[in-house]
Amino acid sequence: MDALASGAAAEQIGQIVRAQTMQTPPPEVAHAACAQGCAFCCILDGPDGGTITENEARRMHAALAPLAGRPDGRAWHPAACPALDPDSRTCRAYEARPSLCQSFFSSDAEACRANADGEAVAGAGLLGSHFDQLDVMALARAALGGPAHARSYALSELAAAAIEGRDLDASLAAARQSPGTLDAARRGLAAAAGAATAGGDG
Ligand code: SF4
Ligand code: SF4
Repeated sequence: MDALASGAAAEQIGQIVRAQTMQTPPPEVAHAACAQGCAFCCILDGPDGGTITENEARRMHAALAPLAGRPDGRAWHPAACPALDPDSRTCRAYEARPSLCQSFFSSDAEACRANADGEAVAGAGLLGSHFDQLDVMALARAALGGPAHARSYALSELAAAAIEGRDLDASLAAARQSPGTLDAARRGLAAAAGAATAGGDG
């Protein structure tokens, strides 16, 4: 039950799917342009930067708490993830980064730059494993009796609270998403994936 509530089970399934995907990688992975210091993907989309599990939120907090008070990614770009080092543009929570970050690849850094500026340019995208993780989070929530029993959290708000020096409980409280956010995120990603497929076919 704990693994369902914390999101650990959802993460495990996402990791299994990602490992399977990597055996026959899609073009964004096979021809990835990703490199250290290339951080346009860390300019976060939407009001809260994306959905993470409680397990991921706890890991992120543990990784970032020692950095409390240091300049964060927003010193480079106002919408950047606070976990980003603003000088080197590398992730300071790399080993703890959530599925959302582990699942994002691109064959074109310029496409990432354009997307961060609000354009819709092909070449970058999320692996299906992250969709699966969100689906399992939603199933766990339904099985356990609702959002109060399987919470979701906002990546950028959790990272900001940790970097600002708030303790774990305060950071989780600041980053906790409203009950409808998980389903809205799933619908948004499905719509974006559908639009990308339609564009590719056209
Ligand atoms: S996803 Fe895009 S911005 Fe991020 S490292 Fe890869 S090429 Fe660079
Ligand atoms: S957690 Fe790390 S990889 Fe993910 S958006 Fe933040 S800085 Fe980038």
